[in-house]
Amino acid sequence: MVKVIIQECSEYEINSLILKINDGIERLGGWDLFVRPGDIVLLKVNLIGPKPSESAAITHSEFLRAIVRILKQRGCEVWIGDSSGGAIAGIAPTAKSFKVSGYEEVAKEEGAIIKNFDSEGVMEVCSKSKYGETMYLAKPIFDADVVINLPKLKTHSAGIYTGAVKNVFGCIPGLRKAKYHKMAPNPKDFGEILADIHQSAKFQLHIMDGIYAMQGEGPTAGDVYLGNKILMSTDPLALDTVAINMIGMKIEEVPNLSAAIEREIGESRLENITIDGDFKSVPQLEGFRLPKRYKGSNRRNYNVLIKVIDFFKTAPRINRKKCRNCNVCVESCPVKAINTDTKQIDYKICIECMCCHELCMHKAVELKKENLLARIFDSLSFGKYR
Ligand code: SF4
Ligand code: SF4
Repeated sequence: MVKVIIQECSEYEINSLILKINDGIERLGGWDLFVRPGDIVLLKVNLIGPKPSESAAITHSEFLRAIVRILKQRGCEVWIGDSSGGAIAGIAPTAKSFKVSGYEEVAKEEGAIIKNFDSEGVMEVCSKSKYGETMYLAKPIFDADVVINLPKLKTHSAGIYTGAVKNVFGCIPGLRKAKYHKMAPNPKDFGEILADIHQSAKFQLHIMDGIYAMQGEGPTAGDVYLGNKILMSTDPLALDTVAINMIGMKIEEVPNLSAAIEREIGESRLENITIDGDFKSVPQLEGFRLPKRYKGSNRRNYNVLIKVIDFFKTAPRINRKKCRNCNVCVESCPVKAINTDTKQIDYKICIECMCCHELCMHKAVELKKENLLARIFDSLSFGKYR
């Protein structure tokens, strides 16, 4: 049976992190199973944008530091790589993100190498999805001997949840990501792209930073939830299955994971997953707030869920009082639906990808319910989110 390790860890203190991570890897068979001295190990972080580690929008820099140190002590060459979302003046803000996140400092102090996926070249791979597209993924993923995925436990305003399976989207360099949002605006279809990446690139290990998790309107505009957990597995879908249960949902309720389930990227049945580490069953993150698009739990019927999501559907609106006119949203919108001067959104062409909401670093893109009944429902007390 596939294993998911869950460790309790309440702080980003380097020695505690190293202890918990090493103990977890031991339970998965030990580091020797995954890396050898001299290996080039790429750490695929979640560096969604230029956000500090404390925001819980990215893999925390101290979490990263702990893993870099472990691998360096084992004689590995360590690379840290990702491509951020969005665009500033026509280019992805990845270089800025590496600075703001503290990753550059970690790399310098621990002797790792930064790999900005936007400028490291690409590898052509064939998609197995209905899109049948040739995909271009960042070359370092194929140049490294071992790739370790370091996702963050977060909610997602469009996709409900983002974790190990979704974190690979950053393997698509620069502004190409917008093309895929446009091609597959529906989260279920978007999941096909994620499954394509998992079937094209090999990720040997997945270590999730769930210490500062993000609740509410993730993946960047939510609040910090002290989850105090580290999750580890060789199977990204099994890891997500466990994490999703921890926050009070079922995997069937996350539309962008349905392709990963159908295409058997990993194990999605909780009864087939062994929980080990500090927990022998799935702990619950009490009071964890889900995004506005999601209401309640235990809705196993996908069609019912879609109807519920439609009823509570939200649309992005730009709050001009908070807006700083940086134009990241304008340049990142895959269908050019945002007016540069007025910041009005043309809802006739908006594909509701929520990239503008995801990438605005000033929380100026708010989500408003489209349905009047849903707004009334919300204003009454039974409209509270879990
Ligand atoms: S809404 Fe946000 S991303 Fe868009 S221009 Fe304003 S501050 Fe920039
Ligand atoms: S306006 Fe926002 S949600 Fe609509 S398509 Fe553009 S980026 Fe996506």
